[in-house]
Amino acid sequence: MYLQDPNYIRAIKKSTNLAILDIEGKLPIDPLELIHKHGWQVFTYSEVALESGQSIQQVCKYFHSNESVTFCNYANPDYPLYKIFYNDTLSIKEINMALAHEIGHITLGHFCDPAVTRLNFSLNTIVNPEIAPHLETEANIYAINLLCPAPLFDVYKLGEDDIIAAFNISSETAKYCLKFNRLLAKLIKLEDRREITKKFGFAIREKVFKPKTKRP
Ligand SMILES: [Zn+2]
Repeated sequence: MYLQDPNYIRAIKKSTNLAILDIEGKLPIDPLELIHKHGWQVFTYSEVALESGQSIQQVCKYFHSNESVTFCNYANPDYPLYKIFYNDTLSIKEINMALAHEIGHITLGHFCDPAVTRLNFSLNTIVNPEIAPHLETEANIYAINLLCPAPLFDVYKLGEDDIIAAFNISSETAKYCLKFNRLLAKLIKLEDRREITKKFGFAIREKVFKPKTKRP
């Protein structure tokens, strides 16, 4: 199975580490909060549209992405400057995936190659993973394990509806998670799987298993 390629294993390890180190145990995980925490610059397509007098559609065309794009300026190689732009007119579920994907590109060092100065995301790479270029798949794998930590899937026997509810992602992303999560979880070392389950256990039980109280 191609996910066993060392680069995908690295993507899984890196997103697991970020989840262990940088995220509190609450769900859903908010990628925008992580972006602010790391000091990466972030702008919305609406801001760009307003400043440039263009429509959102024109901004999408300009960025070659309906979803999001990250630029890297390596003027000072010790301090690369990242700028993330995302389409804030999409649903919050789509935005979450787009932003987690961009975090993936940055933390996986996809911009270390000076030839790579911009990477743009397409939700099509989730719906049709087989057409995605290598770096895009790596960022997608990173993103799903960041937003929906793979070790939780088997422990809590999560189905598509549970995943959508607990992690605030779209049905397309949930399907993508279900397709890959078993394999992803196996690639995470036992110690880290336990750490993730401990960290998010309470939140997932609250989101998925808590009986709904009836309003009086
Ligand atoms: Zn991308």
